[in-house]
This record gives sequence, structure tokens and C-alpha cells, in this order.
Amino acid sequence: MAKLSRADFEAALVTTHLPTLAVCVAQASGDDSLLQGPIPVYDFFGDGMGDFPEDWQAKIRAEADRVLWPILTGERQPATIPSPERIHRMISWIAGGDVPADYLPFLMEELMLDGVDRRVPSPVPAQLSAIVIGAGMSGLLAALRLRQAGVAVTILEANEDVGGTWLLNRYPGVRVDTPNHLYSYSFEPNHDWPEFYSQGDVLLQYFRRFASHHGLRELTRFGTRVEEAKWDGARGKWSVRANGGAVKLEADMLVSAVGQLNEPRYPDIPGRDSFAGPAFHSARWRHDVDLAGKRVAVIGTGASAFQFVPEIAPQVAHMDVFQRTPPWLGPTDNYHDPVPDAFQWAVEHIPNYDKWYRFWLFWMLTDGVIPQVTADEGWNGPAGTIGAANAELRAALVEKIAAQVEANPQLLGHVVPQYPFGGKRSLRDNGVWLKALQRDNVDLVTKSIARIEPDAVVTEDGERHPADVLIYGTGFHASDFLKSFKVIGEDGADLHQRWQGDARAYLGMCVPGFPNFFMIYGPNTNIVVNGSIIFFSECAVNYIAEAARLIAEQGPISVKAEVHDSFNARVDAENAKMAWGQPGVTSWYKNARGRVSQNWPFALVDYWQATRKPNPDEFEAPRRNRAAA
Ligand code: NAP
Repeated sequence: MAKLSRADFEAALVTTHLPTLAVCVAQASGDDSLLQGPIPVYDFFGDGMGDFPEDWQAKIRAEADRVLWPILTGERQPATIPSPERIHRMISWIAGGDVPADYLPFLMEELMLDGVDRRVPSPVPAQLSAIVIGAGMSGLLAALRLRQAGVAVTILEANEDVGGTWLLNRYPGVRVDTPNHLYSYSFEPNHDWPEFYSQGDVLLQYFRRFASHHGLRELTRFGTRVEEAKWDGARGKWSVRANGGAVKLEADMLVSAVGQLNEPRYPDIPGRDSFAGPAFHSARWRHDVDLAGKRVAVIGTGASAFQFVPEIAPQVAHMDVFQRTPPWLGPTDNYHDPVPDAFQWAVEHIPNYDKWYRFWLFWMLTDGVIPQVTADEGWNGPAGTIGAANAELRAALVEKIAAQVEANPQLLGHVVPQYPFGGKRSLRDNGVWLKALQRDNVDLVTKSIARIEPDAVVTEDGERHPADVLIYGTGFHASDFLKSFKVIGEDGADLHQRWQGDARAYLGMCVPGFPNFFMIYGPNTNIVVNGSIIFFSECAVNYIAEAARLIAEQGPISVKAEVHDSFNARVDAENAKMAWGQPGVTSWYKNARGRVSQNWPFALVDYWQATRKPNPDEFEAPRRNRAAA
């Protein structure tokens, strides 16, 4: 092992996340004294360092020096892995309060404190094959786990490379908006993230490396666009047709990993096709179009526009940003910050630092925020709020926004959302968005668009906004799940006709009458308060690998209709309590019928719990097999 530098260690002690450091010391020493002092206190807008008194900060660092340095130099052995009860105490301490005990089994698995990846499935007891559609984050993961379970996997990918959303979204400024130390597979950490929220090409490299490292490219047929998947009840297999029939394959299982956000949605605005200049969607960025000195019109102010508008604003002659609804801005000072070398050093070398830091991010960003986006029963507070915690947060966020537009107070009414926080995805704010909107060469246009003309966007008040280039930041056909291909199940049932625009599934994965078929990131598996979607995929893939075992043991399986229906009723009832489910709140989370078809309304730990393994009682053989029996 290369000799570690004392100077690097000392620098790390200064920069590291203190609550994480304290838990690392406790774990390495077997002594919980540091956890018996002040409990970390977190302010939603603070630096996340726990707000310890200065003498206690010094104490944590001194203890870290005393305990960790001899371990790093090999003079001392770390204590044995803590007992589950002790881990529970450590988890609760770092979270700044009691973490319910039902999180413990999940966190023991996720944290991998003993270095064992418990998510590796054991081999299934029969030969099975699976077709996975899509080689993005979820498809690669599904292929890896199914192969580990002994299933013969083929991935079909329309593009010429892996990476999915990170391959397609190449717009200026694209970056992840979940902290990277959380936005990574639990079993494939990356200690070298260059930024806390890394840019698109870094993410693409991560998934490319993952695919190469695990030999997943060899399983992939690139340039293969699936058009139809059909269940053959007589043979108990899925047959898949791609590339106009040039590719035909069959397998026992079909896994869709095509994502929710991959079919660009262009707005239905009169005259859209008449625009004479270059016009493109954020997910199909035209890097050949030079924006320098051009008049650019941007439609939309969602997560994508929020990232590319500040990037391109300095180049263009003039930009009109057409906003229908403003986004909520969540203060995130380090959104564009590099990870300091000393921090990277800690992640790489301090025992278990990466794991505890990941847990802290997980708790702070996901289940810990649920109360702020849940409606209080009988709440009668001000407009745009759904409960006391939500109202308190709203007031604090408005203050932060107001401070940024002090010089242009007329802007305030246009950039403060009327809907409750959590109604739509909130965006990470380090000030660049509102700065961009206040540039001399940028106008925020809040009048509705009436039509598009060859050289202008015209608003309802008749004003023409001349433009040379038109950029659509208008999102995706998110609620048209699996829009790009047809799925035919038992008795010739067409999945899209079954859904009638209102996609539903059991646990986001299974639909009655579609045996051995599973979706990842399917209906009601999206998250709003910024957890990592990789977590969801890991849960779903675990379930699918366990389902493979059930299929190997008892033949094709189809979820029972009553199980599917009662699950969806529970989801709908819970979504109705959440900010995004409130009447009057519109977003891509709701489908054309107004039902929330995207979001998981429960805690993340509930999805983990529900996806441990399929309950055989919730499944049945396909109808044809039942009739024959
Ligand atoms: P989006 O959030 O759906 O935003 C689309 C925007 O276009 C909204 O502001 C919408 O206004 C507006 N719009 C749609 N039709 C319009 C019309 N006819 N006239 C005027 N405005 C119109 O799409 P997105 O920004 O591409 O983001 C989609 C999702 O992708 C995000 O929510 C997020 O989950 C993911 N994403 C993630 C990242 C990241 O992690 N870094 C980055 C980008 C995207 P309304 O709000 O009024 O509908």
C-alpha cells in the first residue's frame, strides 16, 4: 500500500463532513463517546456540518487524529463491525434524531459496512433467458444482477452506446442534481467525483466504465430499436421484434428499462413547424448551431432549461425565456463546486467515510423531507401551502428568492411559485438561475404563447418576440410509459390499450395478464424530493432477480389483478396527501387524466421492503396454463 501523507490527512480533517467523521471515529475505535456529546443540528439552509460548538468540532478532529491516523498507518487495527443495535444508534445520531428501527435492515444492506454486497442474487435453479430493453443506468444494472443469478441476458439498445439519459442529454450545463456520492450504485462507489453534482460527461463515463468493467457491452446489441414485444402463451416466451423486423429474439423474461424521461415532448403551439431557424429540444441539443450573437427563444423553465439557460446566456445576443410556471429553488451553495482534494482524500482513505456520508445524504435528501411535502389534515393555511412544515419552508424559501431579486423587485411575483413546495420537482439553486434572468440580454416572458411564426414567438398580448433559434426545454412524454414500443400480453392484450393513457403497475413493475414482464422506473416509482433514482432501480432489480427464481421454480408468473388493484388504490390515496397530488397542481407527475402516475408517495424504505422478494401468493400462472391444468 502506498504510504499515506500526514499532510493530506490533516487537510482532510479540516475539510471533511464532521458528523460523518465522528461516526467513523466511533466505528473505528469501538467507543461511542463522541456520539454522547452534542447531537448534530441541521438547518435546511445550513452547511450540513451539524452546527457543533467550536470546542466540540476541535474535539472531533482531535479524536479523529488520535484514532484514525494509527489505523491508516497500520499501527492499530479498527474495532470489529458494530452490532446492529449500535449501528442504529450511530445512524440516529448522524441523522440528528431517531431514525425508525425499520430502516435498519435496509441500511445494513445499503451501507455494506462489512464490505459484503448482499444484493448479489444467488443462482436460479433452472436455465432462463431475459431480454432487457435499454442500456442506461437501470438496464445495465438489471443485466448485471440477472447474469449473476445465472440468467442468460441480452440487452437491446437503440443507441450506439450505453448511458441512456446521460448519453442523450448533452445540453450545455447538464449535470446531476442529486449529490453524486448518493447518485451511484451502492456497490460501485466512485471516490473521484470531481464535483458534488458532476456534469453529464462525468456521469456518462461512470456508466460506460461500469458497463465495460462488468462485461455488459458484450451482452448488448446496440443500434437495436425495439418495436414490439409479444407474449407467446403456448411457448411461455416473449418474442421481441426490432429494427423493422430485421431483429427477432425470444426469451423467458422481458425487462423494460427504457426510463420515463426519454421521449422529448414538444408543445402543441400553433405554427410550431413554421419556425424558419434551427429549433431543437434540450435532449436533442444541436451542438452544430452556433448561438453566439443570436436571438434565442427558450420555452420552459423546468430542470433542463434551469441548467442550460445560465450557460448559454452570456453567448447570445438576446434571450427570451418563456415561463408558464416558475420552479421552486432549493438553496444549494455547492451545486457547481469541485470536490476539494482533501475531501476526496477522506472519501478514499478514511475507513467507512464514503458509506456514512452516503447515508447522511440519503437521510437528509429523501425520507427526512417527507413531512415538508405532506398535507396536514384539515389544513387551512395560506394559499400555496399544504401544512405547517410546508408553510414554514415556503416562507424561508421565498425569503431566499427575494434576496436574489432585490434589485428587480418587479420580478419577485414572477419567480415565486404559487403552488406548494414539492408540487413539482424543486431545483438546486446557487444563484446562477436568477442572475441569468436578470441579465441585460435576457427577458423572462410570463405571458402565454399564442403562436410561433417563422422568425418570432408571439404571446397572447400580440407582442412579437423575434428569434433566430428556438429551444424547447419542454420535458418528456413521461406519463406515456413505454411509448416507443408495443407490448402484447396474454390473449393479444395491448398494454397501451389496457392503460388508456393511465399507466399502472404493481410496484411499478408488473401488470396482470403480462406474464414474466417487468418494468424498471415504471408507473409510480419516481421520486420528488430528490432522492437517487438509482436506489429505486436497485430495489426493482433485486425483485426481478428474485422473480426469476420464482419463474425457474414454478414456470411463468403473472401478478393477480386484485393485488395490482389494491396496491394502486393505496398509492392513489397516499399521493392525494402529497404536495404533487393536490388539486390545481399540474406537472409531468400527473397524466392526462389528472392521476399521479409517476410518483412513489411512501417512504423509500417502504419500496425497499416491498421489493425484497415477490410473494408467490400475489402471483398466478398465466390464464392459458391455468386452463390447461
Ligand atoms: P419539465 O420539468 O417537464 O419542464 C418542462 C417545462 O416546459 C416546464 O417549465 C413547463 O411549464 C414548460 N412547458 C411545457 N409546455 C409548455 C408550453 N406549451 N408553453 C410554455 N411552457 C411549456 O422538463 P425538463 O426540464 O426536461 O425536466 C424533466 C425531468 O427530467 C425533471 O423533472 C427531472 O426529473 C429530470 N431532469 C433531471 C436533471 C438532473 O438531474 N440534472 C436535469 C434535467 C431534467 P409548466 O411547469 O407550466 O408545465
